Amino acid sequence: MDVRKTNGTLEEYDRVKLRRGIHEAYKSASEYCDDAVVKSIIDNLYIYDGIASSEIRRQVEESLMSINKKVAVKYIEKFDADLDLRKKRDFIKDYIAASNAATGSKFDANANVTSKNIVTLGNELYKENNIKQNRYIMTDKIKALYGRELADQYITDLESHILYKHDESGTPGYPYCVAITMYPFLVSGLRELGGVSVAPTDLKSFCGEFINLVYSVSSQFMGAVATPEFLMYLDYFIRKDYGDDYIDKLEDVVENNIKQRTLVKVIDNCFQQVVHSMNMPAGNRGYQTVFWNIGYFDKPYFDGVFGDFRFPDGTAPKWETLSWLQKHFMNWFNEERLHYVLTFPVETMALLTDGGDDFADKEYADFTAEMWSKGHSFFCYLSNSPDSLSSCCRLRNSLKDMEDPAHNVTTHQYSMGTASVATGSKSVMTINLNRLIQDATRRYYLEKKGVNLASGTAVPATPKIDRKVLYEDYIAADIRTMTERVHKYQIAFNEMIKDFLKADMLDVYRAGFINMKKQYLTIGVNGLTEAAEFLGLEVSPNDDYKEFVNTVLETINISNRKDRTPDAMFNTEFVPAENLAAKNYKWDKKDGYFVSSKHNLYSSYFYNPEDEGLSIVDKFKLHGEEYVRYLDGGSALHMNLQEHLSKEQYRQLLNTAAHYGTNYFTFNCRNTVCNKCGYISKDTLDVCPKCGSTDLDYLTRVIGYLKRISSFSEARQQEAGLRFYAHPSQEND
Ligand SMILES: [Zn+2]
Repeated sequence: MDVRKTNGTLEEYDRVKLRRGIHEAYKSASEYCDDAVVKSIIDNLYIYDGIASSEIRRQVEESLMSINKKVAVKYIEKFDADLDLRKKRDFIKDYIAASNAATGSKFDANANVTSKNIVTLGNELYKENNIKQNRYIMTDKIKALYGRELADQYITDLESHILYKHDESGTPGYPYCVAITMYPFLVSGLRELGGVSVAPTDLKSFCGEFINLVYSVSSQFMGAVATPEFLMYLDYFIRKDYGDDYIDKLEDVVENNIKQRTLVKVIDNCFQQVVHSMNMPAGNRGYQTVFWNIGYFDKPYFDGVFGDFRFPDGTAPKWETLSWLQKHFMNWFNEERLHYVLTFPVETMALLTDGGDDFADKEYADFTAEMWSKGHSFFCYLSNSPDSLSSCCRLRNSLKDMEDPAHNVTTHQYSMGTASVATGSKSVMTINLNRLIQDATRRYYLEKKGVNLASGTAVPATPKIDRKVLYEDYIAADIRTMTERVHKYQIAFNEMIKDFLKADMLDVYRAGFINMKKQYLTIGVNGLTEAAEFLGLEVSPNDDYKEFVNTVLETINISNRKDRTPDAMFNTEFVPAENLAAKNYKWDKKDGYFVSSKHNLYSSYFYNPEDEGLSIVDKFKLHGEEYVRYLDGGSALHMNLQEHLSKEQYRQLLNTAAHYGTNYFTFNCRNTVCNKCGYISKDTLDVCPKCGSTDLDYLTRVIGYLKRISSFSEARQQEAGLRFYAHPSQEND
């Protein structure tokens, strides 16, 4: 007689195995097991050919329940444990078959992971358990702070996909991302992080220890680690070894060995050592590389952020040498990327505008344009006062916020004044705007118009919407309720990491690289353009779309201000949503919400990346002040280009950005990698110019960082194929 197993295969009915299973249940319940009883249970089963194994199990459980409840419970537990083992075994099989690591990842493919190997598998295997554990701890916390009802609501919000908690698949209690001050590193090296290295004393020890510092800090965060001061410190150590006038002796031979290296060569070697090490997969991060960001500053920004800074020896940073080093590093990195696929660091150039359409430091604006024209890819952050910095990939932090008397930061405030670069986000929870806005609008139609909207479609032309009522009484009201709820969830999360801090388990904080009060709790948003399309709005620079965007973002912004406490600051971010954008799209489509058929995931911008109708200037407008003003956490314009522009054209676009107040953006022109000979070009090519092969791969930003398109998850690869790359010569503006 055959038994049909859960996976569909057939197996001979096995009485012995069944008896063994029941005996084991008695044994683990510490109950006496009468063989006659077991025999009679098995004899009384109703077995027929092709019976499902689950049906046999049900019958056994039922008879055990009537004989000995304790044993029955053990029998069920044992089966559940086996089930988990079987599920993991099947997962391993699927993972082996998956095309790449991002696709094989079942729960959280965000992973900046390129290779699929035993380490990444090990990490994937426990993600599901981690999600359960995270939810368990969070509901406990919410219950303790706000009661059971809200704790249940948290789970309901997550399971209904109106809310998403990022990085739930990781170990509970990890903060999200951080921009550190490196000052403690200059004072006590790596000892505060559990290492033995004392503070670096020269260029060589600085580079080596710096790599360990970033690795160590990243091991305690889920996301990015930014070190905005990296080049400033590097400059300090070069000056320490070679003098304050080192830029006058770059061609001097300074290594008196067989290599006879010049100073500039020694500096390039430092760059290479640091950058190549950072791009190495990190075992303690499940084979993700560290997500490392650095910053460049123009002169007024440098003065604003580091003007009062003093190194432990009392000396000040030196703009002339730092400026040279920044430029030299950028040029070196741009060249290095012709030889290696290097994802990190993600770089951000901070430029101060002149308050109008141009820049305070024109030399740096010119240099920035020049680097883009040379094919280098990096972000640019603009502001009209040096009071805010972009630290992590796209997180905007107003440093003025930190000066609020409500956040009187006392711990780790260095008298030398450097804490201004330390910031980040402790936790990100993202609201699915498309779902929320459609729910609100459906309610509006039902209550105000007596109309049940059909599922899967946009709003009809008639009956006409009373926009003021819909926006204020329904959409904004629902967003406010949701945001206030998410603030409570975030406060619960904050309490959870405070517990870890109190228990002395978050070394990076204890050592003073970051202060928890300087980090935000972030409300992510996703699905905004989709919701606009649902409402029949055109996603382009126009007053109706602007009104909609501002209604949504201002509502969240006001709540963020209102709900802040001395312990908790909130901000809003257009999250990159590398995976989430595809998940939300799929979930919403399945549940009968309107989703656009023009793409397969939600946009992370104020426009849809596949839209061919928008000009370059349109996109700068859509990420400009009029749209982003209430987005207190940040968003990034990814200006996709078919080919590189000239220095003059980029310089013109910088002025365009200053004019519209586009505060964070980058240009992406797909780089080509030849799979056959390894040749890399900054341009988008069809044929390898070196070997003639057409077996090519392309590098672009999956969202925040450069990666081979073939390493993207399947959903992202599909989306990458839809992205519109503007052709500058076809621009009318
Ligand atoms: Zn080639």
